[in-house]
Amino acid sequence: MANLKISVDNNTIVAFEGQTILEACQANGIEIPTLCYHPQLKPLGACRLCLVELKNKGLVTACTEKVRNGSEIITNSEKVIQARKIILELLLSDHPADCMTCEKSGQCLLEKYAYQYGVRKTRYEGEKRVVHPRDGSPFIIRDYEKCILCGRCVSVCEQIVGADAIGFGYRGFNTRIVSGFDESLKEGDCIFCGNCIQVCPVGALREINAEGKGRTWDCTIENTTCPYCGVGCGIKTFIKDNQIIKIQGQDESPVNHGWLCVKGRFGYDYVSDPGRLKKPLIRRKTSGNSGFVETTWDEALNFIREKFTEIKARYGPDALAGLASAKCTNEENYLFQKFFRQIIKTNNIDHCARLCHASTIAGLFQTLGSAAMSNSLEEIENITDCILITGTNVFETQPVTSYRIRKAVERGACLVVIDPRKTRMAEIASIYLQPRIGTDVCVFNTLAKIILDEGLYNQDFIRNRVDGFEEFCAWMNNFPIKEAERITGLSLEKLKEVARIYATSGTSMICWSMGITQHTTGTDNVMALSNLALLTGQIGKPGAGLSPLRGQNNVQGACDMGALAEFYPGYQKPENEATIKKFETLWNEPELPVQKGLTVVEIFENAYRGKIKGLYIMGENPALSDPDITHVREALEKLDFLVVQDIFFTETAAYADVILPACASFEKDGTFTNTERRVQKVTRCVVQPGESKPDWMIVQNLAGRFGCHWNYQNAWEITNEISKAVSPYGGITSRRILQGEKIQWPCPDENHPGTSTLHIERFPIGRGKLKCIDYRQPFELPDEEYPLVLTTGRVLSEYHTRTMTGKTAGLREITGEPFCLISRTDARKMKIRNRDRIRISSRRGTLELFASISDSINDGVVFIPFHFGANILTHSKLDPVAKIPEFKVCACKVEKVR
Ligand code: SF4
Repeated sequence: MANLKISVDNNTIVAFEGQTILEACQANGIEIPTLCYHPQLKPLGACRLCLVELKNKGLVTACTEKVRNGSEIITNSEKVIQARKIILELLLSDHPADCMTCEKSGQCLLEKYAYQYGVRKTRYEGEKRVVHPRDGSPFIIRDYEKCILCGRCVSVCEQIVGADAIGFGYRGFNTRIVSGFDESLKEGDCIFCGNCIQVCPVGALREINAEGKGRTWDCTIENTTCPYCGVGCGIKTFIKDNQIIKIQGQDESPVNHGWLCVKGRFGYDYVSDPGRLKKPLIRRKTSGNSGFVETTWDEALNFIREKFTEIKARYGPDALAGLASAKCTNEENYLFQKFFRQIIKTNNIDHCARLCHASTIAGLFQTLGSAAMSNSLEEIENITDCILITGTNVFETQPVTSYRIRKAVERGACLVVIDPRKTRMAEIASIYLQPRIGTDVCVFNTLAKIILDEGLYNQDFIRNRVDGFEEFCAWMNNFPIKEAERITGLSLEKLKEVARIYATSGTSMICWSMGITQHTTGTDNVMALSNLALLTGQIGKPGAGLSPLRGQNNVQGACDMGALAEFYPGYQKPENEATIKKFETLWNEPELPVQKGLTVVEIFENAYRGKIKGLYIMGENPALSDPDITHVREALEKLDFLVVQDIFFTETAAYADVILPACASFEKDGTFTNTERRVQKVTRCVVQPGESKPDWMIVQNLAGRFGCHWNYQNAWEITNEISKAVSPYGGITSRRILQGEKIQWPCPDENHPGTSTLHIERFPIGRGKLKCIDYRQPFELPDEEYPLVLTTGRVLSEYHTRTMTGKTAGLREITGEPFCLISRTDARKMKIRNRDRIRISSRRGTLELFASISDSINDGVVFIPFHFGANILTHSKLDPVAKIPEFKVCACKVEKVR
């Protein structure tokens, strides 16, 4: 961009070609009032408040007029000020003068500018619009009498979210915003992200939940990180009287630029839910029955020490195991694994990453030596030319990432979606392919074969950075490409189109999540994707790479912290002598365990067989989230001793001997690491209920009972220990986090800014490895008795086992009844109509729910969101390397309930 010299208010400033007057002025600290302008949206020039005088042109809107070299601009002449006053008067002429009771007072831009320009009343009295507030939304007040028709809400809905649920309706004096709850637009388009509230400059759109609870100046505002998904959106929490009264997106966050989804903005009722655990509970037997009674922390912790010590003495340390939590902070996960390794002396410590991205870790560690997302969300939005998303319903699982992909598409990036389910992103894709479920390796191998056959591979990249090319080519010689169409159900021509776009684009990115990983071939699927990047050199440069989109808010961090059976913190292997020496020194503890531990499903299998006797679960709910939950529950029953530490009495807590009340993320300090490796601050915003404590404090107190006095005074002292234990976190200290830095690891020292793009010069294992991977079918295929394939996933308005989202009435309302998607043809064959009650059975269990006839899935496949106990149907057959269960494919049958 060429530098331009312009004059603003008779001062020379530097601007850039392509900048608007408004952007140039803002960059130089010159304030111009705006109402319809928003930096993330296309300029509309609708409100005209940003008028400035441009020499030889007169009054122009600064938000739309581009600067030219030598432009002479006056922003504060009498003419400009009078024009702005008239605009404000005109707006006020049709706006209720109720600032004294308006919820938005203090944040309203119209109020701010009327004050700033001294506009006390309007000369343009006349008829005012009468528009009654619209209802029907569980979260949003639509008070259109206050609307100034700036169009920001329409723009955000269309340009950022892609919901198109709001538009301008009627004409002339009657023009107003119409939404899914008016007659003019389809009901159901609104996804209740509330980003329209975030951008509304006046009080027309407001949060129902915050109404009457306090205005901005009544609140304390704390910045923290969303507790739901791996995007890690920055949020501003408005607190009054120890209650969260509303949440807004942090405009300055590099992750979300202020945008949120429905869960992040509205799903916080659980924090003040009366059902929160407030005191430790202990199971007691009275007259033959057993039940929970409240107890003291002393008694609870002493009892745990006694039982764990007894089990360890009798059966050895490996008879105990722990499940850490992708919901808890880095500091808590670090201490939890430290407790098991240092005090119990076992590596039987794992967490739910085993059920989501274990195959990503196992696969990418073999091919690259690092399993983290190789680039940033910023790069995907602004740089990547071709985005290939596969096995991820990103619109519902990482909504804000989907907004950023949408912006990339708007910029001109080519979006390719390969998914057995036609997801929302498929609607804006240039190419959508719907393969047969479980045929991913065959799909990706076919793409690799086309890349080789058509000479689309990157010879220089392969020569300089990749091993195994000759062997790979020789193996590919025998690849039955003609068979690919039959196996995958995809046309070879379409696959060729995808291979060419992916290989020849300047930068290509592959994004995936559990549709790829939750298979018995999960590791193979990931390595087959890695082959594509290594063959084409689409990795190791800004905008190009491999992006596993992580599920839970801190699943990346929990893995980094060593809450995995095969790794100490920082993915350091226990069988490596240097790892053990390092941690023996750091923790001042000899004889740390060197054998790999048991993984999640193995822990339950061993509990079922009586080999695991004691289990400590921090913030997970396996009685609902793990595969084949009937088996899991039997395993939980067989344990000698179970400790559950959580914020609610979960389905798993019902099996516990001791329940410890923990804090929610809004009640404690620490850090989460998001999907793009960004370490972000978690802030204590409210005081926790009853005697509940932050998880790190509970673990530390328990360690003390074993004579191990760690003595961390606060979470930040643990952050600083992590920076010593995990080299990529070396420069991520409490000082920087408390200053509000959001740093992407690797960050080796305190002066390092963090790393957006990985693998630029080399891979962590040196050269990338191509892998020859034969296609294998899923474990359980349909047969006569169970003729359909069941697959599971998430919905936008729920999270996991609904422990948190289930406490927000509005989210429950949006989600509606548990449903099962079934194809039109299958429904017709079985005489099933929409909303009929149906029974789904597998070899492991039965579930009843409503049928939802859909064109989004192939015939022969049914889909159920897993939030409602779908794991009673799934099986626990594991990927042999990653030990992840095959949640995504099992055989089932469907019957209509008479
Ligand atoms: Fe929270 Fe994820 Fe929604 Fe962002 S996208 S608000 S992190 S749930």
